[in-house]
Amino acid sequence: MSFQIKGWCPGALRPMRSGDGLVLRIRARGGRLLPEQSRVIADLSARLGNGLIDLTSRANLQLRGLDQAGHAEAITALDALGLLDDSPAAEARRNVMLSPVAPVDGPAWHLAAELSRRLTAPDAPDLPGKFGFAIDEAAPVLSEAPADIRLIPKGTGWHLHPEGADWHLPAADPAQDALALAGWFIAQGGVSAGRGRMRALIAGGTRHSDAVPGGLPAPAPAPQPGPLAQGRLLGFAFGQITAAQLAAITAPIRLTPWRMLLLETPEKVRIPGAIEAPGDPLLRSHACTGAPACPQARAETRELARTLAPLAASLHVSGCAKGCAHRGRAAITLVATGPDRFDLIADGTTADPPLACALSRIDLASRLAQWRAHDAPI
Ligand code: SF4
Repeated sequence: MSFQIKGWCPGALRPMRSGDGLVLRIRARGGRLLPEQSRVIADLSARLGNGLIDLTSRANLQLRGLDQAGHAEAITALDALGLLDDSPAAEARRNVMLSPVAPVDGPAWHLAAELSRRLTAPDAPDLPGKFGFAIDEAAPVLSEAPADIRLIPKGTGWHLHPEGADWHLPAADPAQDALALAGWFIAQGGVSAGRGRMRALIAGGTRHSDAVPGGLPAPAPAPQPGPLAQGRLLGFAFGQITAAQLAAITAPIRLTPWRMLLLETPEKVRIPGAIEAPGDPLLRSHACTGAPACPQARAETRELARTLAPLAASLHVSGCAKGCAHRGRAAITLVATGPDRFDLIADGTTADPPLACALSRIDLASRLAQWRAHDAPI
């Protein structure tokens, strides 16, 4: 394995260094930004960063390309907007994803606030940095997003679903009970050297003594750009938005883990470069940051993905075998092995054996075009 596994996520108070400078992650409360907050974030990105903002798979925003002085100035501005926690530890524990379509001020909204408050309290369980909670819908919309404990409304209460389990726990006090389940995860040995995920613990056969049979409910259809009851969804290729695009949005925003923003407005909003049409090939394409921004990348990824996206039923271009942009399968997965060399995996992930190795960009374009014409690998 030639890439590093860090085991923690960047925050605002604890940024991560990348090839293009510091990465500063903003965890908006309830995943919602008011227009004034968006405007300031766009300004910080344009003035202090490189003008590129990531929409992460945990429904957060990441400013990129800051230096130390820029980070300090950004922190002051974000604090004034109420977007920071009291400490890096509290920030790291507040991994709570709320359904983007949950009504503002509704029961799920208040549950997210209460769970966040308890997770940032001094006596909160000492959970691994990537351990997270998802507060979802009765027909889940966050099933594909990373989480370790999923809270699903059921009747007048909630069910707690540990990730990967075919059982659940009914919860009378969902915030308290979710923390108790997190404590159970620790007590069962789910954490080793500060790392650990619920799925791995459950896969080992560990089961709660109060477990009730029944896994997650069937998910809702995958969201697509366009109108929703709550507003309009706009997509952004590879989950990246520019400062100028963000500045052009004047409605409140709900962040999503779908590489889309939900704009709380019934109006049609034109943002240059945004994806408005369902079925756009870029929506079924993944590409990580790649070179030069990621120091582990062997090649540029996103321009190649834009070129090849129309040729593949689904595409994942990865700058190295770590596969940050997409953990699941894709019809075509490309893993960079050199500046113009890629291994090609058919119907698999970056961890699967390649069908062909060391292909150049020209080789790939021609191979995928022929493949598409014959509707089969050739
Ligand atoms: S998958 Fe991409 S972003 Fe992740 S470490 Fe490798 S090159 Fe960097």
